[in-house]
Amino acid sequence: MQEFFHSVTLDRDKCMGCTNCIKRCPTEAIRVRDRKAYIEAERCIDCGECIRICPHHAKRAVCDPLAVLKQFRYVVALPPPSLMAQFNNLEDVDIVLSALLEMGFDDVFEVAKAAEIVSAATRSLMKAGKLPLPVISSACPAVTRLIRVRFPGLIDHVLPLHAPIEVAARMAKKEAAVKTGLPLEEIGAVFITPCPAKVTATKMPIGTGKSAVDAVVAVSEVYPKLFPLMNRIAASGEPLRASEVGRIGISWGSSSGESSGLINDSYLAADGIENVIRVLEDLEDEKILGVDFIELNACSGGCVGGVLNVENPYIAETKLKRIRKNLPVSANHPDLAQLEPVLQWDTPLEFLPIMELDSDMVTAMEKMARIEEITSQLEGLDCGSCGAPSCRALAEDVVRGVASIEDCIFYYRSHSSLEKGSTSDDTN
Ligand code: SF4
Ligand code: SF4
Repeated sequence: MQEFFHSVTLDRDKCMGCTNCIKRCPTEAIRVRDRKAYIEAERCIDCGECIRICPHHAKRAVCDPLAVLKQFRYVVALPPPSLMAQFNNLEDVDIVLSALLEMGFDDVFEVAKAAEIVSAATRSLMKAGKLPLPVISSACPAVTRLIRVRFPGLIDHVLPLHAPIEVAARMAKKEAAVKTGLPLEEIGAVFITPCPAKVTATKMPIGTGKSAVDAVVAVSEVYPKLFPLMNRIAASGEPLRASEVGRIGISWGSSSGESSGLINDSYLAADGIENVIRVLEDLEDEKILGVDFIELNACSGGCVGGVLNVENPYIAETKLKRIRKNLPVSANHPDLAQLEPVLQWDTPLEFLPIMELDSDMVTAMEKMARIEEITSQLEGLDCGSCGAPSCRALAEDVVRGVASIEDCIFYYRSHSSLEKGSTSDDTN
């Protein structure tokens, strides 16, 4: 069995077993047993929904600490476009870039710059008719992982290009090596992340064997250090670094931003994990026709909605609009042929059949029939008191041998009273 890394983890001491999280999980990865939640590693896609919903803060995202900067001789910050939306009254991205340099980074490479390059490459591939339509964005790692475990029929539609974070890390390290003469191993590329899915995407990458991102620090950890430095830089009026991005790159920070970079109106953009699942189901059922590109973001509002951000996603979206207002459409016109090795996946996306009941079709059918039978014996309340998200999920757990039908309190009560009844009848 493949080993799984997950950024989303459970603090058992804080978990009260309230079951709030089990129904929110899009892959039914969470169960509560003995009044504690646990996450089935192979099912979790690190979407962060359970972090958002847990009232006891028992779920958290594991990132690298800022001290990780000390591990490298030369360290490049990779700020995402959504970071720019965390600050009040920010109109000049240069101030954030300069504050990152003052914070201790040796250099900065904007992920929005890489996003403009990915947009250009996507336009080029689509224009050449090289991708099956509709093309599904591969930028949100939680969505790509969801497709990999739940929607195998859509895998061929996933855009086989690295996400902007990966492209940024690869380009930043090469540039830094030329600039400093240092070997690549001594250069660190540190991404500042809005969400746990992107942490996992760097530790267990999709489309390549090893990510060029060396460490990932949460926006919420960087923000309090950055903010006072920004105020000082803004007051002095002398930013140290000029941004190299236009509207297309900055727009990637919120939902429909990637699509707008295609300069093609035939797109669909959906955000929030439930909406994403509805779109993928409709796509699988061939209900979505006449659309060339589908952009899906697991977080509401897109990356501005990531759980590791500090700003309300809707306010952040308004701030992004203000920032991009005075920018050129794009500040990057890349030589795509030269960048092909940086952009293209070298490992194809493969179906991960973790939801399959059995690899043998006949056995799987028998198990399915057994699940139907057990489900029909349950109340159908989907109350979650058994620790599974639905009656059907409990039935599946029973068939998988990890739960008992008597975990259902209603089944247990009715059957134990029947047994008592038959015992008293026997004694009469
Ligand atoms: S929401 Fe889930 S993780 Fe949080 S306390 Fe309840 S059962 Fe535990
Ligand atoms: S991060 Fe998402 S997929 Fe993983 S357990 Fe939480 S809700 Fe489920």
